[in-house]
Amino acid sequence: MIFLLAGNPNVGKSTLFNFMTQSHVHVGNYSGVTVEKRVHHIRYFEGANLVDLPGTYNVSPSSEDEGVVTYSLLNESYNGIINIIDSTHLKRNLHLTVQLLELGVPSLLVFNLKDALKNNGYIIDTDKISEILNVDSVRISARERNKDDQMNIVNKLKNIGAIKALELDYHEVIKAAMKEIHELLRYDQLQVKKKWLALQLLEGNDGIYKHIDLIKEKEIREIVKKTEAVIIENKIAFSLKGAIFNTRREFISNIVDECLIKVEDKEHSKYFNQRIDRVLTHPMIGIPFFLVVMFSVYQLSFGTFLGVGNLLTTYFEMFYEGIVINYISQFIEFIGFSGFMYGLIVDGVLAGIGGVLVFLPQILVLFFLLAILEGTGYMARVAIVMDKFLSKFGFNGKSIVPIITGFGCSVPAIMATRTIPDKKERIITILTIPFVSCSARLPIYSIIVSSVFEKHVALIIMGIYILGIIVTLLSAKLFSLSFFKGAGSKFLLELPPYRIPQLRTISYQALEKAKRFVKKAGTFILVGSIILWILSNVSLSSINVTPDTSLLSSIAGFIAPIFIPIGFGTWEATSALISGVLAKEVVVSSLEILYMGDVGSGFTMLSGLSFVVFSSLYVPCISTIATIKSETNSIKWTLFAVVYPFVVAYIVASIVYLIGGFFI
Ligand code: GDP
Repeated sequence: MIFLLAGNPNVGKSTLFNFMTQSHVHVGNYSGVTVEKRVHHIRYFEGANLVDLPGTYNVSPSSEDEGVVTYSLLNESYNGIINIIDSTHLKRNLHLTVQLLELGVPSLLVFNLKDALKNNGYIIDTDKISEILNVDSVRISARERNKDDQMNIVNKLKNIGAIKALELDYHEVIKAAMKEIHELLRYDQLQVKKKWLALQLLEGNDGIYKHIDLIKEKEIREIVKKTEAVIIENKIAFSLKGAIFNTRREFISNIVDECLIKVEDKEHSKYFNQRIDRVLTHPMIGIPFFLVVMFSVYQLSFGTFLGVGNLLTTYFEMFYEGIVINYISQFIEFIGFSGFMYGLIVDGVLAGIGGVLVFLPQILVLFFLLAILEGTGYMARVAIVMDKFLSKFGFNGKSIVPIITGFGCSVPAIMATRTIPDKKERIITILTIPFVSCSARLPIYSIIVSSVFEKHVALIIMGIYILGIIVTLLSAKLFSLSFFKGAGSKFLLELPPYRIPQLRTISYQALEKAKRFVKKAGTFILVGSIILWILSNVSLSSINVTPDTSLLSSIAGFIAPIFIPIGFGTWEATSALISGVLAKEVVVSSLEILYMGDVGSGFTMLSGLSFVVFSSLYVPCISTIATIKSETNSIKWTLFAVVYPFVVAYIVASIVYLIGGFFI
C-alpha cells in the first residue's frame, strides 16, 4: 500500500515522516526543507509505504517542487493521502486540505502541533471537523513521538476508505464553466475525478496540461479565458483564481469559527513574540544583531577565548598524534613494513586523514550551534531581514534557504533551489551558491589562519565567510544585469513561530554533518592522500625520491608560476589546490602530507591569507559540479560554474594580496 504525505511547508511534515517511518530526513524551522520526494516503509504497518511530498500551499504548482504534488496526485497509484496540517495556522493550511478533499480520494487529516496550539490557548474539535468534512482526523504533536499517536494513525490508515468528494458552493459562473470543461475531458485516462480536474484547470493549474494528455487543451484554455473575463467584468472577483479562492476562504473561515476552541487567554505571549520579531527583523537592528550572533558562533567554534570547538580540536589532535599515530606506526614497524610502505601509511594516509579529522570537533560545535539557530526560527527572521537586501542583488527571497544550506554543503543547497519558481533566478542562485563557504572548506581556514596568525583567528575566519557572501551577492548582481536580465518574481516570506528546538533533532543534524565528514575521510581523503603521497615520492625513473624531485613537484611546479603574483606559487600549494577539486577537505590533507605536519612553514601571513581567500572561492568540488550539471541540465552553465569561480578567486586573492601587503 502507498500513502502520500502532503502538507504546507514547515508544518512538521519531515518530523512526522521520520516518526512514522524511522528515517531521518532533515527537519528545519523554515519553508522549503523538503524539496525531494522520499519513500519509506511505515512502521507497524506491513507492506505500507509513505511518500513524502514537497511542502506546498496549493495543489497548483508555482515552482518545480510543487509540480511534484500535482504529478503524484495525477499519475501515481496510491491508497490514500495523509494531509498534515499546522493547527496553529488553520486558515492557511486548510486551503490545501480543501483541494485534496475535492479530489475525493481516501484521506486522513493529521492536525499537528497540538502542543503549540495549546500554548496559544486553543484546542481543535477534530470530531466536528471530521463531521463537516466527512473525513477521519487526528490531532498530534509529531515532535513528541508518542507511540499511541503513531498506532492511532496506523490503525486509521488500515481502515482508510473511500470518501465523498467535498463540494463547495462556487459561483454559478464557475460551476457552469466546470460543466463545460467536464464534457471535454476524455473518460478512459482519468482515474481522478473530472470535476476536480475541471476546477483545477479553471484555477490555472498548468501542471494538469503538462501531466495528462488533454486532447481538447485549446478549447479548455478558451473556456478558462472566457470565464475569467466574465468574473472580472461582473466584478465577482479580481480574477478567476481569486473567485475560487474566496469561496474556499469563506468555507474555511466558518470551519475555523466552529472548530477552534479557546480554552485559555494567552494573547499576551503573542504580543511578546511580535515585539521580539519587531526588533529582530528591524533593518537597522536586525543585521548588526545577526553579525554579533554569528561572531559568537564562530568564536565558540574557532576562537581561543571561550572556544569550545578549538579546545576540543586541540585535545583530539593530541590524542590522534600521541596515541593513534604512535601505536599504528609502532605496529607497522613491528610487522616489518619500512621505507616506502611505512611512509605511505604513516606520512601519507594517517597524516592526510588525521589532518582533516582533527577538525571534527570544531565542525560539530559549529553545526550544533547553527542547528539551534535554525530550529528556534531565528534563521527565518534573518531571512526576513535579508529578503529586501537579497532582492536588490537579483536573488529571489526563496534563495535564502538554499544559501543557508550552502554553509553546510553546496550539493543539497543546489538541489534546494527547486523551490525557486523563476528559472533565471534559480540559475543565478545555483551559480552563486558555491561561493558560500561550505563546511568542507572550514578546515583549510582553520589550519592556515591559526598557524600564520596569532590573534583574531575567529574574526578572520568570519571575515572569509563574509567575503564569500559578498562575492555571492556581487556575482548575482552581475548575472542579473547581464545573462539573466529581467529576472524577478514576488515572494512572500513566512515567519515561522519561535520553537524550542529539540535536542534530539539538533544533535542529529550536527552528527549527520559529522558523519558525512568522517565518511569523506574514509573515501575522497583516503584516495587523495594515497595518490598524493605516491606522486610526491616517485619520479619517472625511480621510487623513494625526495618530494622536491618528485613527479608531483614537476607537474604542479609547471602550473605553480601562475600563482606567484598572488603569493603562493609553490608546487605544494598548487598540488593541494588541484587535489582539492576532488573534495575541499583534500586541500588540507594534501598540505599536511606535503608540509609534513607543519603547514604554517609553507606560508607567510600574507600568502596564507591569499591562499585561504583563493581556496574559499575557486572551482567547486566534483560532487558540486555534477549536481550543477544535473540541476541546470546544461553543459554551458556547468563549464561556466567551473571557470568563473577560478577567475573570481584569482582576482579577489590578488586584491587581498595587494592591499594586505600594506598592512601585514
Ligand atoms: P516540514 O518543513 O513540514 O518538513 O517541517 P519540519 O518537520 O522540518 O518541522 C518544522 C519545525 O516544526 C521544526 O522546528 C520542528 O521541530 C517543529 N515541529 C514539528 N512538529 C512539531 C510539534 O508537534 N510541536 C512543536 N512544538 N513543534 C513541531
